[in-house]
Amino acid sequence: MNSTAYYFQEQAARISFDPEHRRRIDFNIGKYDQAVLRGKQHYRDLELAKCRAANLKSKTINKLDTYLAEFERNFTSRGGKVIWAQSERDAQKEILQIIKKAKATVIVKQKSMVTEELGLNQLLEKNRREVFETDLGEYIVQLAGEKPYHIVTPAMHKSREDVSALFHEKFGIAEHAPPEEIAAFVREKLRKEFIRADVGITGANFLIADCGAVALTENEGNGILTMAFPRIHIAVAGIEKVIPSLEDLDLFLPLLATFGTGQRLTAYNNVLFGPGKPDEQSGPEQMYVVLLDNHRTEVLNYKEQRKALSCIRCGACLNGCPIYRNIGGYTYGTVYSGPIGSVISPHFKGFKDYNHLSFASSLCGKCSEECPVKIPLHELLLYNRREAVMRKYPAFMWKKAIQGWNFVMLHRWTLDRPGASLKNRAIKMVAKKPWGPRRTLPKIAQKSFKERWMEQQSINRNA
Ligand code: SF4
Repeated sequence: MNSTAYYFQEQAARISFDPEHRRRIDFNIGKYDQAVLRGKQHYRDLELAKCRAANLKSKTINKLDTYLAEFERNFTSRGGKVIWAQSERDAQKEILQIIKKAKATVIVKQKSMVTEELGLNQLLEKNRREVFETDLGEYIVQLAGEKPYHIVTPAMHKSREDVSALFHEKFGIAEHAPPEEIAAFVREKLRKEFIRADVGITGANFLIADCGAVALTENEGNGILTMAFPRIHIAVAGIEKVIPSLEDLDLFLPLLATFGTGQRLTAYNNVLFGPGKPDEQSGPEQMYVVLLDNHRTEVLNYKEQRKALSCIRCGACLNGCPIYRNIGGYTYGTVYSGPIGSVISPHFKGFKDYNHLSFASSLCGKCSEECPVKIPLHELLLYNRREAVMRKYPAFMWKKAIQGWNFVMLHRWTLDRPGASLKNRAIKMVAKKPWGPRRTLPKIAQKSFKERWMEQQSINRNA
């Protein structure tokens, strides 16, 4: 077993039996479930909206080259600059270059998973830049020296008490300060940083091809300040974020809000068309869009798995997933966790080290049912499993165990002949460790079904 799979198993075994973790996740996802249920009621025909969104995304993904070129043409025509980054390293290099050229020392950031993918905070800090996450949840995890726990709710694993203790420790504010006081404190603190910042970095919820614009959606207003205050704005986006037309936001923004947080529409929705004009009061002097590939075109090569590129990162599949709810976000050891993470991470980070994620699923199908763009996630996990087997990645012992099982099940004599105690000993030898110390191994009955059937038949005959 490789070290990432081993880490996964160790963590999963520990977290699944941590009652406090379970209580927090159940509490937070419970609140989310109720909000989403209410949010869905605003739709007259939710299924129709999901089908339209799925079709539109699938059409765009199948013509990604055309739409991306259209986006670039339109965005650059108004003074914006597009940077194509094939890999994580290309994107890091380009972003660092912009920052160095601008002699920027303070950077403000809006929550964005793609910048997590680039490890941007660590990179900038290593280059002696001050970086401030400006989304409250993201600011909390940055302060705690942690990574986001969830793609929409980064501090989902923290209780109210954890957060107040953290702020007490770092800033000396009252030990049991209520959330409102903490939020006011952060707002006050960050406002100064927005003014000091030279560069604002955001993600992009959608890239709109027909007008060359970037759509950003958020709830705290920090995004607007991140893009409008500093003189340079860098938006980093995966290439799959493109949609054909401005009109399509009609469909996607409410779907993202409903499935992400249960809102009808997120509080702030901005569409950015490039750097600020001389007659405009706000807006950056320069605006860049970094289009990140980082293995996405490899995913495009797979007829089935390419459907995962339709994801709008709403997080609904994580919240619905019984595995995520039990093992939590950090166990995956990847930026993207939950069902969508288990589908894309092996492609993004290497099949050899991460194929185990596609096996960590009950295949109940809840994720596919939840997805607003109808990605058949549990089926894609199966395609990934097939890919792993074809590449001969499953562990040697696992392969031998399956071969042995296959042999036993296909031969009558192997089922009939050895007695139950021998079979139980063999099962113990092979399965005890993977079965784990907390569960009791099932036992083979003393008499097989066939033996009992024959006995019954003989009783019936003699009766
Ligand atoms: S796969 Fe679907 S449910 Fe999961 S985050 Fe993406 S859009 Fe949301």
